[in-house]
Amino acid sequence: MSEGKKLKKELLQKCESLGAKKVGIIRAESLKDSEAVYAAMMKILPEAKSVISFLVPFPKGCLHLLKDPTRGLPFYTRLAGIGGRTLDGISINICLFLEEHGFVAAPVFICTPLEMPKSLDLWGYLSQIDVAAKSGLGWIGKNGLLTSPVYGPRVGLGTVLTNAVIEEDRQSDVGKCPDDCFICVEKCPAGALDGTGKVNRLNCTATQAIAPISLMMTKEFSMKEHRDMIVNVGAVDEHTWYRCNNCVVHCPIGL
Ligand code: SF4
Ligand code: SF4
Repeated sequence: MSEGKKLKKELLQKCESLGAKKVGIIRAESLKDSEAVYAAMMKILPEAKSVISFLVPFPKGCLHLLKDPTRGLPFYTRLAGIGGRTLDGISINICLFLEEHGFVAAPVFICTPLEMPKSLDLWGYLSQIDVAAKSGLGWIGKNGLLTSPVYGPRVGLGTVLTNAVIEEDRQSDVGKCPDDCFICVEKCPAGALDGTGKVNRLNCTATQAIAPISLMMTKEFSMKEHRDMIVNVGAVDEHTWYRCNNCVVHCPIGL
């Protein structure tokens, strides 16, 4: 077996042992047709040659509780915090595995770091949804989320960039939303979904969650560096109280 094939086999075994249920590997150059994604990737790791994208399903039980939001949302708040740390832990361990084999690797964390170019408009450094879709883990649903044919949108995503040249391993033809399904659009209380997969981020953010510390950002912290600092140390993750997840919990795919 060639060194490249051996590395890929060991990498996939490592991902599986860490709890990643689906893994897609894509060459960095295959992302060139998505200018923004490619540029964002190059800003994180300019020498990136391969991208590893993986998903971990969320327990359906926690999400089903969301159909009764007063009981379900505290579960989701905890799930989001711990689920995020689980994904980041897997990414870190994949990086360490690659470094042990002599490569450079960088995780793309699921929550922070974030940038806030204008008030309440939160952007991650790299769209893990776009990368996961291009890696064949699923499709971008009408809710704007990665929708796995197996788990629906009830998944967390992780991404690792590396300078290792790894053979691509991605599925094509992973499916799409049924033409006549618009459940997520109809259930969105913010009118943030238009049925094309685009999300009105400001409408969603204002409805989906609130972080107590974000209230501080309105007047006293008007400079961008202050906003970035606050949002990255305290405004998200387990400091966020979720108020809506309708577009995830009501999707019939994977139930
Ligand atoms: S999280 Fe809620 S507000 Fe945001 S897009 Fe989904 S349904 Fe709409
Ligand atoms: S609810 Fe329907 S339209 Fe929305 S993401 Fe799920 S399958 Fe697609």
